[in-house]
Amino acid sequence: MNIYNTLTHKVEEFVPNEAGKVAMYTCGPTVYHFAHIGNLRSYIMEDVLEKYLRYDGLDVKRVMNITDVGHLTSDGDTGDDKMLKGAKREHKTVMEIAKFYTDAFFADCAKLNIKTPDVVAPATECIDDFIKVISALIEKGYAYEAGGNIYFDTSKLDDYYVFHNFTEEDLAEGVREGVEKDENKKNKADFVLWFTKSKFDDQELKWNSLWGLGYPGWHIECSCISMKNLGEYLDIHCGGVDNIFPHHTNEIAQSEAYVGHKWCNYWFHVHHLNTNSGKMSKSKGEFLTVSLLESKGYDPLVYRFFCLQSHYRKSLVFTYENLDNAKAAYEKLISRIAQLVSAEDKGEINSADFDRLRCAFTAAMNEDLNTSNAVTALYDVLKADTTAATKLALIGDFDKVLSLDLVKSAEKLVQDKKGGDIPDEVMALVQERQAARKAKDFARADEIRDKITALGYAVKETRQGTEITKI
Ligand code: AMP
Ligand code: ZN
Repeated sequence: MNIYNTLTHKVEEFVPNEAGKVAMYTCGPTVYHFAHIGNLRSYIMEDVLEKYLRYDGLDVKRVMNITDVGHLTSDGDTGDDKMLKGAKREHKTVMEIAKFYTDAFFADCAKLNIKTPDVVAPATECIDDFIKVISALIEKGYAYEAGGNIYFDTSKLDDYYVFHNFTEEDLAEGVREGVEKDENKKNKADFVLWFTKSKFDDQELKWNSLWGLGYPGWHIECSCISMKNLGEYLDIHCGGVDNIFPHHTNEIAQSEAYVGHKWCNYWFHVHHLNTNSGKMSKSKGEFLTVSLLESKGYDPLVYRFFCLQSHYRKSLVFTYENLDNAKAAYEKLISRIAQLVSAEDKGEINSADFDRLRCAFTAAMNEDLNTSNAVTALYDVLKADTTAATKLALIGDFDKVLSLDLVKSAEKLVQDKKGGDIPDEVMALVQERQAARKAKDFARADEIRDKITALGYAVKETRQGTEITKI
């Protein structure tokens, strides 16, 4: 498989450190609010990546953190802790907020068929690990204490800006009005590993450390949780593009300083979901959630389909018009698959056709996870001149990665058309009609049939018995 690597700015062949195995890390959500559908775009595409690696026969171990402490309002270590902001907003404790929004995040993921990673680690449960790594960084001369905080000394590295997307000048320009300069830092790019003195002294969660009562910085959390669960060599690290700098840059700095060699080979970044007014973000307050889409009548899988129709390395604009187009296309797709499901004679699976059509799908996915071409390969299956059995087998196969419930939803549609779960009221009328027919009271039977029709069901006598279908 070829994949774009942000580190080299090239599409490269993906070769894991250990043949057949993949160590994969994902930056998890900051659980101070609901995940918005922009965040979930990143998690959908990372889910597709994980599933495709598994589909390709690789044994993936995927780890994700939950950021429940230390992520400040600005990624550059200034401002309030986001968790504390959430707690104040809702008059709850930080841990109550963390529990509520972690559960909400996984409920959204389940609706979108996003698999839960093999390991999910809340930062607050790994404090000892952070302290261990920070102590080692101080010992090795990569970190220093200033004004009560522990900072990473970026001047100790030959190449701090490893992604080469940002320079010191960008950083200087990035200092916004109202964000105070931290005078403790020796170098502009230095970042906090452990806070004991913050302007925001009412931080709710603090732990004892060698440097006093305090709390970890956001960046150290991901490095430590990854190394703890996946070892010193990481194959692939994922996140949204906004994580490239400073978060992932800092993760590399501290992890490589700690292990003393290259840490992670591939960096996978998903581009943003934007609205017409710019990037969707939690801090803007108003944002779109899966529940909101559901309340407007959209199946969450329509949103997943919408995301899969675009390449992960292109920013995607969300409008309801675009989502409506995806909804219409998804529903049409399901109804075409339903025709295959209800075909009387499905024939046998033709393995030559199966292999040929499957190749188009894997070729698309192998070329930097081109899900939009993979969706085209799915349409090509529907158009192909082969048996229904072959088509259904291929659709089921692709769906191991796409996770759109294609066959399941088509079967449900067929079932619903046949009547599906017929309401009790309709069933009672059907029985009443049968009794009327038995008694040869056909006028009454017709009257009851009209009542059934009014409830949205058609009733017909066939050789197999009474057939009830949804109109
Ligand atoms: P957060 O909960 O803010 O820590 O973000 C969770 C994930 O969502 C991170 O990987 C971010 O890079 C990603 N993300 C944030 N905003 C967007 C967006 N508008 N579109 C896509 N991904 C995003
Ligand atoms: Zn992270």
